[in-house]
Amino acid sequence: MGACGMLIAGNWKMNGTHDSAARFIDDIANYKPSSEPGRHLLICPPATLIGTMAESLAKHGIAIGGQDCHAQSQGAFTGDISAAMLADSGCSHVIVGHSERRSMHGETSQDVCAKAKAALSCNLIPIVCVGETWEQREAGHAKAVVVAQIKESIPDGVDSGAFVVAYEPIWAIGSGRAATADDIDFMHAAIKKTLAGKTADGSEGAVLYGGSVKPSNAREILELYNVDGALIGGASLNARDFLDIADLATI
Ligand code: PEP
Repeated sequence: MGACGMLIAGNWKMNGTHDSAARFIDDIANYKPSSEPGRHLLICPPATLIGTMAESLAKHGIAIGGQDCHAQSQGAFTGDISAAMLADSGCSHVIVGHSERRSMHGETSQDVCAKAKAALSCNLIPIVCVGETWEQREAGHAKAVVVAQIKESIPDGVDSGAFVVAYEPIWAIGSGRAATADDIDFMHAAIKKTLAGKTADGSEGAVLYGGSVKPSNAREILELYNVDGALIGGASLNARDFLDIADLATI
C-alpha cells in the first residue's frame, strides 16, 4: 500500500446535473463519511459541476478532481480545459488517459504524459489510467501492454507521491465483471515495479484498481496487498454505494 493511504475516487463521466449533484451532496451529508486517517475520498464530476461541488464536498472531507485536462495551459483549444483552470476551480486531482479518452479521442500515451506533466506543473495530482483490452488479455499480452503504457505515460523522474496510477482493464469498465483478485494483484505488482524505475526516488507510487468496483466486491479488491484504492465509475453516482465502498478502505 502507498505511504499516503487509500484513495477512493469516483469518476462521474458525462453524468450529473446541478439537481442530481445537490441530491448526492444531501445524501453524503446524511450518510456522514467516517473520517479514517489516511483515507482520501475524491469525486471527479463533469466540469460544469466542479465549482459548486468543490465547496459543498470539502465540508465533508471529499476532494474534487477533473476528468481530463489539456496539455497546454491556455489558448485556442475550443472545448478543452486546462490543468490551471481545474486547480483554479478547487480541484486537487485530474484523471488523465482514461480508456474512453484513449479510444474515443485517440489519445496516445505520449499525449497522456504531456497532460500528466501539465497537471503536475499546476500542483494537481494526475490519476494516470492504463489497461488492456480483452483481446490483448486473451492473446497473453496484458502485462506487456500495461507496462508499456506506464513507461510512456508517466513522466520520468516524477516524485512518487505526486501522481497516482489507475489500472483499469478496459473489458472490466462498466461491464459488471471486475478482474479477479489474482489478476489485479499480479498487474499492480508489475506496475509498481515499473514505476520504481521511473520515479525520482525509486519508490513505487500508488496504484488504484478500476473496473466494475461495487460494494459487493470492494472488500476483496481493497484488501489486496498491491492495491492502494479504487477508481469507481457507475457506483460512484450513488452516495450510499460510494461511501459503502469507501468504508471498506482501511489504511
Ligand atoms: C471507470 O470508468 O473509470 C470505471 C471504473 O467505471 P465502472 O466502475 O463503471 O466500471
